[in-house]
Amino acid sequence: MRVVASRAEFFAAREDLDGPVGLVPTMGALHDGHGALIEAARAASGSVVVTIFVNPLQFAPHEDLERYPRTLEADLARCESAGADLVWAPSVADVYPGGPARVRVEPGPLGEILEGAVRPGHFAGVLTVVAKFFGLVRPAVGFFGEKDYQQLTLVRQMAADLDLMVAVAGVPTVREPDGLALSSRNRYLSGDERRRATALSRALFAGRAAAADGEQAVLAAARAVLDAEPGVVRDYLELRAADLGPVRGGAAARLLVAARVGAARLIDNVPVTW
Ligand code: AMP
Repeated sequence: MRVVASRAEFFAAREDLDGPVGLVPTMGALHDGHGALIEAARAASGSVVVTIFVNPLQFAPHEDLERYPRTLEADLARCESAGADLVWAPSVADVYPGGPARVRVEPGPLGEILEGAVRPGHFAGVLTVVAKFFGLVRPAVGFFGEKDYQQLTLVRQMAADLDLMVAVAGVPTVREPDGLALSSRNRYLSGDERRRATALSRALFAGRAAAADGEQAVLAAARAVLDAEPGVVRDYLELRAADLGPVRGGAAARLLVAARVGAARLIDNVPVTW
């Protein structure tokens, strides 16, 4: 496995890769969820590139850019054991050599709902950096987690709408044994908050289990679990179609939640079938 930092080093190392190239973009602080993405890329690609970059463009001024966990040595060990060939951990100046990008990707209507409603500008920042990494790495396939379901859906839309000629693969969410979705932000939780944080997945599972009784039952069951947990402050709990449009009777759906637990803001989602 090679590890590079500068643009020039990356371009030189990219020349040596066998195709098809699979790309796993990350912000570091890697866990088994990222490991599953790298393993999926390994199984489907000639070469696997992992990028580790905390993208300032997708953080609002009041958000956790400065304190976002940075654990490069451990990340590299994880990349190696999961099967990466090349890790690129660029600086902000490597990714934005001319300063913050002037031209940015406009996410469209899907960027305004759910996470986009709570975090204005977030998805423009995400899609802009993903488009840049698609251009820089030129992968055949980009691998993204279902954990960030709206992000996965938007990256798919971007690749299709802008003809980026990259396939987008989704990887199921990896969870702790008690259901909590793995997240780099789980590190912000105290022991007590960590226990309370299981309310997100418990709520989703309760909602999913009520599917036979219809849409309102799903939402009521999920809301009951979430609201019963003190210290868990809900940003949203929504049931949408699998493409994040309005629920259509009988078609596959997605139940999505975001809540704050102490200093951490956590998101999760599950598929709902009727
Ligand atoms: P991040 O480093 O948080 O930006 O995440 C990088 C990629 O890992 C994104 O595609 C995420 O959706 C994915 N990811 C994060 N957590 C998980 C998880 N628990 N299971 C599967 N994929 C995940």
